[in-house]
Formats: sequence, structure tokens, C-alpha cells
Amino acid sequence: MKITLKPLGNIADEIMEKLKDRVGGIFHCPVEVKAGFSDLAQAYNPERKQYLSSKLLASLEKSERDERVVGIADVDLYVPRLNFVFGEADIVSGTAIISLCRLRPEYYGLAPDESLFLERAAKEIVHELGHTFGLGHCPNNKCVMHFSNSLADTDLKEAHFCNMCRPKIIL
Ligand SMILES: [Zn+2]
Ligand SMILES: [Zn+2]
Repeated sequence: MKITLKPLGNIADEIMEKLKDRVGGIFHCPVEVKAGFSDLAQAYNPERKQYLSSKLLASLEKSERDERVVGIADVDLYVPRLNFVFGEADIVSGTAIISLCRLRPEYYGLAPDESLFLERAAKEIVHELGHTFGLGHCPNNKCVMHFSNSLADTDLKEAHFCNMCRPKIIL
């Protein structure tokens, strides 16, 4: 099994590398950063001023069967009945997408905090990967598979799987 992270649009290499290291520390398998795609316009909804998550997710390509691919976008993502989504996973194809947009303290008018931002991003990536490995949401609010309704939920949970979830990961 291996995990590939792909930047969608402009994401600094430095951020991608740091996320790669964090994700590698949770899943004990190789993690690589590969080129994603930069044209996100196909998924833009001018009325909502947001990008349709499922459309970007469907454009992510996976080259190998035992690969999991996570697209990292820096635009605000939505699905039709929700105001926004932090991320989305497709269990069948083994692909997922997350948005960094709402993970930065600056989004809420707060001072930048890179380590908090990276921690949140790592949790979102690990959470969506968990879905691609067959996990559902976990009632334990410290577990990375707990559903995040808001950033407060994200900040409360940890970046790793609880003892109930970890054995259920099908690698
Ligand atoms: Zn989830
Ligand atoms: Zn759990």
C-alpha cells in the first residue's frame, strides 16, 4: 500500500512536504507527493463562489491499484446540500480530497499559526484516508475518524486512529 498526495492548484512545495511527513508518521507505508492538476475552473460555482468537491474528486487519477490518492486544494469546497466540506472521500476508487481553506486561523480573522494549520490539515487527510480504508465515523471524539462539524471538533480530536478503529483499517 502507498499513499500519494497531489496538490490541486497552487500549494507551496514546503506545505506538501510537511504534510507528507505527518501522514507518513501515522500510516506506516510510503507517502509520496506527485503532480496534481491546476485547472480547478471546471468545478467552480460562481453563485456560491466555491468549488464542487465531488467534481474535483472525480478528476483525481490513480495509477496503481494499491495506491490511495489525496488531492490537497486551497479553495473552498462544497457539496450540494452543505455550506462547505473540509473534505470528501470515494471509497470505491480509493481517492479523497481535502481543502486547506478553512483550516487557517486567518480565515477567521485570527493570527497565522502554521503548526496548528498543519496539524489540522494532517487530521483531515488522515480522516479522509480512513474512509478510503473502509472506516466510518467513530463516536470517540479524540479519534481522527470522529466527524468534524466544525474546527472545534477537528482541534479536539487527535491525528491518529483510536484502538477500535486502527484494527479495522484494511491495508
Ligand atoms: Zn468523515
Ligand atoms: Zn475511532
